[in-house]
Amino acid sequence: AIWNLGSINADMVYALPHLPAPGETLAANGLDRFLGGKGANMSVAVARAGARVNHIGAVGSDGRWARDRLTEYGVDTRYIAEVEVPTGHAIIAVDAQGENLIVLYPGANHALDVRQLGQALASANTGDLLVMQNETNAQVEAARLGHELGLTVCYAAAPFQAQAVQAVLPYLDFLILNEVEAEQLQQETGLSAADIPVRHVIVTLGSKGARYLQQGCEPVDFAAHKVQAIDTTGAGDTFTGYVLAGMDRGMPMEQAILQANRAAALMVTRHGTADVIPDLREVRDAQFD
Ligand code: ADP
Repeated sequence: AIWNLGSINADMVYALPHLPAPGETLAANGLDRFLGGKGANMSVAVARAGARVNHIGAVGSDGRWARDRLTEYGVDTRYIAEVEVPTGHAIIAVDAQGENLIVLYPGANHALDVRQLGQALASANTGDLLVMQNETNAQVEAARLGHELGLTVCYAAAPFQAQAVQAVLPYLDFLILNEVEAEQLQQETGLSAADIPVRHVIVTLGSKGARYLQQGCEPVDFAAHKVQAIDTTGAGDTFTGYVLAGMDRGMPMEQAILQANRAAALMVTRHGTADVIPDLREVRDAQFD
């Protein structure tokens, strides 16, 4: 099974005639609320890919709907705590041209009790996968504990902070980052992707596909599928979720990446995030040029 210490956000999307200027009060024409957060997206991707996923996280009393939706999507939510802090959310203002402005409030995502993490992972089995992203507290504690328990410890370095990556690096079996994050890592720490001391590293390259670097082996490149991209949000989270699901099923990494590459290509042809992540059947049936 897969254990995901991950963020859960309410994405509140306000449709506005224009983006507000400082001091301006502006009425929105509409509001849509979606399930978001990289952690939640990844859990949904893993579940859609057909693997078992336990989400470890926290919401406020205003976030029960988010937990319910994760349950509905096939994610095990018994380790999502309800805390005295509002649910993490993003206030996303979008104007008529599609230009946006985002206020992110981490809220409950930074209020996770480390004891609760220990209790959750006490139920993990050796060989299970543990994944984290940089949107929650307790990443280092989780990585260390996961490593001690013999779990395969995975990290998605987003949103990127060199310090956060360095803090978990000694415990990692698998690191995934996009091209921009890989460049930032190199600039800030001097580590090029090929030199990262982690057994499996994947650098995703957007419309150029992905590169797999296994320690001691030549890098392997995967070309992206040619699609009409209309919304790339959630592409990386979908890719990561599918890779993890493949690893959990014991697939060779190359095969897991091929499937993730198909899933992410399909994802960029859709508007939305968690709600529209493709399932395994759609990924297998997809026809690409
Ligand atoms: P992130 O969303 O984290 O920035 P990327 O932009 O690198 O990550 O995208 C992740 C994956 O999504 C890529 O490795 C690729 O498989 C797929 N992808 C992204 N953009 C496109 C695109 N324009 N066409 C096809 N596949 C894409």
